[in-house]
Amino acid sequence: MRLILLGAPGAGKGTQAEVICNTLNIPAISTGNILREAKANKTPLGLEAASYMDSGKLVPDEVVINILKERLKEDDCKNGFILDGFPRTVPQAEALDQMGVEIDRVVDLEVPDEKIMARLSGRRVCEKCGSSYHVLYKPTKVEGVCDRCGGKTVQRKDDAPETIRERLEVYHAQTEPLKDYYKKTGKLVVVEGQEEVADTTALTLKAVEA
Ligand code: ADP
Ligand code: ZN
Repeated sequence: MRLILLGAPGAGKGTQAEVICNTLNIPAISTGNILREAKANKTPLGLEAASYMDSGKLVPDEVVINILKERLKEDDCKNGFILDGFPRTVPQAEALDQMGVEIDRVVDLEVPDEKIMARLSGRRVCEKCGSSYHVLYKPTKVEGVCDRCGGKTVQRKDDAPETIRERLEVYHAQTEPLKDYYKKTGKLVVVEGQEEVADTTALTLKAVEA
């Protein structure tokens, strides 16, 4: 099964990707995570990507396309994969087609902008293991400490309010056109994000397994 998860930043793509990954036993590939890791390790790629990421802009297409090309060559992608955060522009989707990658389904996670603002501005992530929390909706048991690994939870730099607005604008302008792109191929399934994560998960699994 080759899947794409579409949706605004903070729509919950990462959470849903993890559930599908565990259910179908295929890897979840997040270009955002790959880029953040490169940034943390200060590799040439990370240094190039950092200023785009921190200001809420997209990293140039050719850079992310190359990352993805390399990642898909790895062995664990043989039986399928979930793409979380790629493609994010029409040229990226076209590149995927040109690579000969046949996508089975595209799940579009819909969450209104007001909810996105609330979710992202209260989001905290563990520095160590990447677990995601929310100060109101999903607080850690001890403030600032990851429940899972004891690491420190911090606010992502691009979760600052001005940057969230920029990311949403970029999403509407550059990523949202992909809904039409995949609607035309008949692959698109829309999932409305629910208040409870478990309810969204049930809908996503239904969309994927149907
Ligand atoms: P979110 O979905 O929460 O915005 P991601 O972790 O998917 O976050 O991405 C974080 C940042 O990494 C993006 O704002 C962008 O700068 C960069 N990025 C990730 N994936 C792509 C992509 N496919 N194309 C361009 N930039 C990307
Ligand atoms: Zn942790």
